[in-house]
Amino acid sequence: MTTTATARGGDWLIGDVPADAVFTREQLSDEHRLVGRTAEEFVEQEVTPALPALEQKHWSRARELVVRAGELGLIGTDVPERFGGVGLDKVAAIVVGEAIGPSASFATTFGAQTGLVIIPILCFGTEAQQQKYLPRIVSGELIGAYCLSESGSGSDALGARARAVRAADGSWRLSGEKMWITNGGFADVIIIFAKVDGEHFTAFIVEKSFPGVSSGNEEHKMGLHGSSTTPIVLQDARVPADNVLGEVGKGHKVALNTLNFGRFKLGGMSAGGCRAAIAASAAYAVARKQFGHSIASFGAIRHKVGEMTARTYAIESLVYRTGGLIDAALHGSGASNGAAVAQAFEEYAVEASIAKVAGTETLDYVLDENVQIHGGNGFVKDYSAERYYRDARVNRIFEGTNEINRLLIPGMLIRRALKGELPLIAAAKQLQDELLAPSLTSRTTGDEQPLDEEMRTVGAFKKIALMVVGTAMQTYGQKLNDEQEVLGYAADILIETYAAESAVLRARAATVTDRQRVELHQAAARCYVNDAAQRVEHAARSGLAAMAEGDNLRTLLAALRRLMKNTPVNTVELRRRLADATFDRRRYIFD
Ligand SMILES: Cc1cc2nc3c(=O)[nH]c(=O)nc-3n(C[C@H](O)[C@H](O)[C@H](O)COP(=O)(O)OP(=O)(O)OC[C@H]3O[C@@H](n4cnc5c(N)ncnc54)[C@H](O)[C@@H]3O)c2cc1C
Repeated sequence: MTTTATARGGDWLIGDVPADAVFTREQLSDEHRLVGRTAEEFVEQEVTPALPALEQKHWSRARELVVRAGELGLIGTDVPERFGGVGLDKVAAIVVGEAIGPSASFATTFGAQTGLVIIPILCFGTEAQQQKYLPRIVSGELIGAYCLSESGSGSDALGARARAVRAADGSWRLSGEKMWITNGGFADVIIIFAKVDGEHFTAFIVEKSFPGVSSGNEEHKMGLHGSSTTPIVLQDARVPADNVLGEVGKGHKVALNTLNFGRFKLGGMSAGGCRAAIAASAAYAVARKQFGHSIASFGAIRHKVGEMTARTYAIESLVYRTGGLIDAALHGSGASNGAAVAQAFEEYAVEASIAKVAGTETLDYVLDENVQIHGGNGFVKDYSAERYYRDARVNRIFEGTNEINRLLIPGMLIRRALKGELPLIAAAKQLQDELLAPSLTSRTTGDEQPLDEEMRTVGAFKKIALMVVGTAMQTYGQKLNDEQEVLGYAADILIETYAAESAVLRARAATVTDRQRVELHQAAARCYVNDAAQRVEHAARSGLAAMAEGDNLRTLLAALRRLMKNTPVNTVELRRRLADATFDRRRYIFD
């Protein structure tokens, strides 16, 4: 793969991206695949059989599984070897996350350990803190938790009321209560955010054994019954002077960069959940007979499995593409350099938010269809479909709700543009001139290749994104933040654009990376782009109608029509092809 370290976050929005510039799942190395198989076997042979015990809150079992994951090298996949890790890249961490994802309850325990605790210590810890904590967290000896939320401040995390006061000997006294803390019931090392003197938002590394630290009762939840979620109570908790993580007053940097990585990883875990549900749906549909036929032979069911596959394909494509970008940014600057890792996460924060929103919403779509394909059996506990469905719902709430992430996607791109880091404003201006010209450049070259039409459609998505974002900036100026509905439409267009382009580029690359299944890659990409076009058009029309009226609106809508000229493809046929291949294999078709 030729992803270059010179790429910048959000670059993809301006201009074309060649197929050989993105990392795709087909390019996984033997090492990546080995790590993935290890994780899959671990889930199948050790985690899944333990789920009933975890759902009974037997946290000693959860601890044993974390230790086992440590022994297998799964916790420290992307942690430098000097801290006991395996020292692989971020793509390897995604491969592991994808395999662990379907275990939902354990995946949450695992995600907190790897993403929410190791990452902040690795990125912001002093050498002494890293030496003290990382090897024991990576081995699974210590369980980690991350305390940002409070009952009064979830999305508004910087509004925390937990306080830290410095004692005469330099140590700290922390007081307050954190809510909904994953691993809260049995964690040993906890990253806690509190305001020094009620003002300076700061991160601390707190051991559960420190005087004044305790956990409250387990929450009674809709799902994830096998994952511990409790309050963490701080009653004048004593924390040594050396346990500030990062700088006093710079806790937001720790919190936000940790979330950037967590979001990206949740995208990968969601893709893994989709793969597992598609396998369950396929196996069930083939075996289940109604009206004398397997339900897999019915068009309505083939439609569902085909669409589940096409959407999963797009999510995987954008997650691995982003992993490749992050790894390329780290290449040379040293993946073991915490500051460089934090900077790479910050660079691709927009893509991480896209991965979170698109991944979790695709997963919910797929899991809903999985229940439907199982019929009555989907609603009872004898089958995994019911648990998958309940367990996944929280994904749209934690790691920043999807509403907050939607606001962040255009918001961060606009901020980058205003800082001169992304030529978005110039591109929007150039587009305006182009659209006012009598005719747009011709559409076909006469020498059409597969997916050329889809590439042009993706090009149109980018222009539509620029048109909507540019119009919003012109219309609202400094007050754009108050126009959440318009930002939401802009986010939807940007998400579809990145997903669709990632799918098409992956399918194009498949002529080299996966020749035997090129047609299936193309079917997935074409199907996704075709329907994405309708979603993009809907979001653009709704957004523009909120910003303009009369002749002004009519001009904008005419420009939209000139851009969106794709001819619908026969998605019935494409989905049938995807579904039939899935039924043949009884599993998701792209490995
Ligand atoms: C099972 C579980 C595990 C969790 N694990 C952890 C953990 O380990 N550590 C941790 O710190 N936290 C954890 N959380 C908490 C989680 O991160 C928060 O619940 C989440 O951030 C949302 O905060 P909230 O619940 O206060 O909702 P609120 O912030 O009150 O949001 C309510 C609704 O309002 C919307 N909203 C809020 N503000 C805005 C805005 N400005 N604009 C538009 N819409 C807005 C939200 O999108 C949402 O739809 C966990 C939660 C659960 C359920």
